[in-house]
Amino acid sequence: MKTFNYHSPKETKEATKLASSNSVFLAGGMTTIPSMKLGLASYKDVINIKGIKKLSGIKVSGKTLKIGATTKHAEVAQSKEVKKSIPSLAALAEGIGDPQVRNRGTIGGSIANNDPAADYPSACIALNATIHTDRRKIDADKFFRGMFETCLKTGEIIESIEFEIPAKSNYQKFPNPASRYAIVGVYVAKHKGGVNVAVTGAKSCAYNDKDLSSALTKNFSSSAVQNVRVSPSGMNSDIHASAEYRANMVKVFAKKAVEAC
Ligand SMILES: Cc1cc2nc3c(=O)[nH]c(=O)nc-3n(C[C@H](O)[C@H](O)[C@H](O)COP(=O)(O)OP(=O)(O)OC[C@H]3O[C@@H](n4cnc5c(N)ncnc54)[C@H](O)[C@@H]3O)c2cc1C
Repeated sequence: MKTFNYHSPKETKEATKLASSNSVFLAGGMTTIPSMKLGLASYKDVINIKGIKKLSGIKVSGKTLKIGATTKHAEVAQSKEVKKSIPSLAALAEGIGDPQVRNRGTIGGSIANNDPAADYPSACIALNATIHTDRRKIDADKFFRGMFETCLKTGEIIESIEFEIPAKSNYQKFPNPASRYAIVGVYVAKHKGGVNVAVTGAKSCAYNDKDLSSALTKNFSSSAVQNVRVSPSGMNSDIHASAEYRANMVKVFAKKAVEAC
């Protein structure tokens, strides 16, 4: 590992001042530390943001659930507020990695990293989330840009993620047996304004399947899913699953999620 300057700011402003194109924020470190140890990434400044109190915590207010960026997966999984307001989100958090990963990894780190197989991006899209940063609010459908790419600017810090509480929701995934990342994950959420079917693991970035969402908005039943064609075009194909297999899984999991709602 190359040498670097280590910082531990107590305020967001202090953290953003330290940031540059050659720095990284350290949240759970579950991606950053292995990347640095393996020599895949190196930074001049490592800015630990876990000491910034305002970045953590869980709060329900009215129709939304707000989770601070440095809140760990285990905290989301165990939270009474999350279990009561959006049980599918608590279940998603419980299905991430293993106990060690869940007790270090954070929701902000997960969405900033935007791994194509990560679970939270699908939740953000399905639950019409708003990403609050130190400088703006971003709708989830504009936040995730591509593989490991978001619309965050250099030094921009995610402060919290605000989810719309749905009438019904469920998340289904086929986990990679080693890492538990999603080979395919499908998050179905029924809101007053319509249904979202967000998919992760299938393409280079999580996305809202417009055809499934529109079919389920008209008729919220597993038979409505049956009539939708999910194309394998543009889907990932690797040693775990072909594009055709993934396309079929999207449909199977959309049905399962509707039935479990
Ligand atoms: C063995 C293993 C298994 C895993 N399994 C799963 C799984 O099943 N499902 C899943 O979804 N994920 C999984 N993960 C990912 C893990 O859960 C973490 O969410 C992820 O590694 C990044 O979160 P972190 O808090 O550790 O971020 P870090 O590693 O600390 O940071 C990652 C990136 O995010 C940026 N960042 C962090 N916080 C912020 C912020 N507040 N604002 C702006 N930028 C920020 C950093 O600058 C860095 O670029 C797994 C990871 C491992 C190592």
